[in-house]
Amino acid sequence: MSDSFFHPVSGFDLPRFAGVPTFMRLPHVPPDHARFGDVRIGLIGVPWDSGTTNRPGPRHAPRQLRDASTMIRAQHATSGMRPFEAANCADLGDVGPNPADIPDSMDRITTFYDKVVAAGILPLTAGGDHLTSLPVLRTVAQSGPVGMVHFDSHTDLFHSYFGGTMYTHGTPFRRAVEEGLLDPARVVQIGLRGTMYDAEDRDFARANGIRLILIEEFHARGAEDVMAEAREIAGTGPTYVSYDIDFVDPTFAPGTGTPEVGGPTSFEALQCVRALRGLDIIGADLVEVSPPFDPSGGTCWLGASVLFELICAMER
Ligand code: MN
Ligand code: MN
Repeated sequence: MSDSFFHPVSGFDLPRFAGVPTFMRLPHVPPDHARFGDVRIGLIGVPWDSGTTNRPGPRHAPRQLRDASTMIRAQHATSGMRPFEAANCADLGDVGPNPADIPDSMDRITTFYDKVVAAGILPLTAGGDHLTSLPVLRTVAQSGPVGMVHFDSHTDLFHSYFGGTMYTHGTPFRRAVEEGLLDPARVVQIGLRGTMYDAEDRDFARANGIRLILIEEFHARGAEDVMAEAREIAGTGPTYVSYDIDFVDPTFAPGTGTPEVGGPTSFEALQCVRALRGLDIIGADLVEVSPPFDPSGGTCWLGASVLFELICAMER
């Protein structure tokens, strides 16, 4: 059970449009805070999009997701779970990147997450573009390769861009496999679709035993059936969850850099996360929300809801 210090500010105590916004209206507990070691699930902003190859903007997502997440209430409407009472949750603040230097930014991210994991905190990241996942995996997989359930229109398994650039938001999981951070036999990628440069990424996945679930299969089988298989693939070992908002159809999530039509609805987007419960989730992220392409704010509402579902799935 959490103690009251870690309970979100209730909308009955202070209207939800008032106050300084933190994720879910949780307390702000940076690494030098006296209660840092008491946090169980830590929400972390990574305002960084230097890995973006086309339309940028996710550097603005953590701030907007904090604002949107003030809409989230304390109780899950379906399961009845009250996640902020079940475990100490907090907003650990942002990792300050170096927007002009990709390797330096990745080192800064890994250094921050090392403190988080050393304190026994499960990190829940609000990115950032998808390159964010690589420096996070360098920390959470430091004691051996982990499984991964990955929701995305894209595999992000390309070797390189522009004739040899190795670190972009299209390459993080290729690097993660090469660096021994992921166990390919325990990785599943769900929702793949859209036009392609070529099949190099999918060839790499198949050659390494990564399970690809294309959108046609997702729609034919339905979310529950697909997620039952995803749980089997991830198994009982430590598992990372990476959620690219472009997994969801751009009707519901237009605010992203690389939208692809024909995707899941916003309900299916939540249903998939609910089905993760029971896995040994050692960290999760929500990436690629791009507020400059989200004039309605709807992508941020969905993103905040996905973060809430991820917290519920991470509870043990
Ligand atoms: Mn991605
Ligand atoms: Mn994507």
